[in-house]
Amino acid sequence: MNLFDLAGKVALVTGGNGGIGLGMAEGMASCGATIVISGRNAAKARIALDALQTHGVKAGFIPADVTKKAECEKLVTDTVAQFGRLDILVNNAGTSIRKMPEEYTEAEWHEVLDSNLTSAFLLSQAAYPAMKRSGGGKMINIGSMMSLFGAPYATPYASSKGGIVQMTKALATAWAKDNIQVNAVLPGWIDTDLTKRARQQVSGLHERVEARTPTGRWGTPADMAGVAAFLASAASDFVTGAAIPVDGGYSVGM
Ligand code: NDP
Repeated sequence: MNLFDLAGKVALVTGGNGGIGLGMAEGMASCGATIVISGRNAAKARIALDALQTHGVKAGFIPADVTKKAECEKLVTDTVAQFGRLDILVNNAGTSIRKMPEEYTEAEWHEVLDSNLTSAFLLSQAAYPAMKRSGGGKMINIGSMMSLFGAPYATPYASSKGGIVQMTKALATAWAKDNIQVNAVLPGWIDTDLTKRARQQVSGLHERVEARTPTGRWGTPADMAGVAAFLASAASDFVTGAAIPVDGGYSVGM
C-alpha cells in the first residue's frame, strides 16, 4: 500500500492559484489527486493550472471570494457537482493589513478576520456533509508563525491565525467520529506575493528572518508540498488537531 496515494481523491485549495496554496496543491497533485483551485484572480489561476497539469492530473479553477458566505457554500457545491466528490479541503486563502493596532478601522479588522478565519470556518462547515457522506476526509488549515508569536504590525492577522489553531482543535474533536482529520500547518517565512509586500513595508524583515531561521533561508512554496501530501493522505489518519510548523526551525530557536 502506498500511504501517500491520492488517486481518486478530490482536493479543494482556496488561494491555490499561487504562493503556498499552489505549492500544497502541487504536492497533492504529485500523489495523484484531482485538484480544484479557487481564488479571485483568473489570470493567476491559468498559470497555476498549467503547473498542475504537468503532474498528469485533472485540475480546475472555480472562482470565489471567500469573505462571502454564499460564495463559500457555492464553491463547495460546484466542486462536488463538477468533480463528483470532495475529500480534502485546504483553507489557505488569506491576507494581511499591516499597521499599528491603534490605526486599524473596524472594517480593516473584519476584512482580515473574514478572509483568514471566518472563511475557513464557513468552508469547513460547507464541506462537512460531503466528507461525512463519503466516509471521511481531510481538512488542512493554514496558520502562521503569528499563530505562536505576536508582532506590532499584525494585530488582526495574529488574532486570525491564533484562531485557526483553536478552531482546528475544536473541529478535530467534533468530526473525528466521522473519520475526518482536521490539522493546521504553520508556515514559517515563505517567499510569496504576501511576503514580498511585507518586506516592502517592514524594514529589515528579510534579513531578520534569514538571521533567525536555523536553516538560514526563506522557504519557498515547494517547501509546503510534503506536508500537504502527508496531511491529505492515509499517512496521517491518526493525526488530528495538530498544528505543524513548517518553518526551517524558526519557531524552535532564539
Ligand atoms: P499569496 O498572497 O500568494 O496568496 C494568498 C492567496 O489567497 C491568493 O491566492 C489569493 O487569491 C487568496 N485570497 C486572498 N483573499 C481572498 C479572498 N477574499 N477570496 C478568495 N481568495 C483570496 O500569499 P501566501 O501564499 O503567502 O499566503 C497563503 C496563506 O499562507 C495565507 O493564509 C497566509 O496568511 C499564509 N501564510 C503565509 C506565510 C508566508 O510567509 N508567505 C507564512 C504563514 C502563513 P487571489 O489573488 O485570486 O485573490
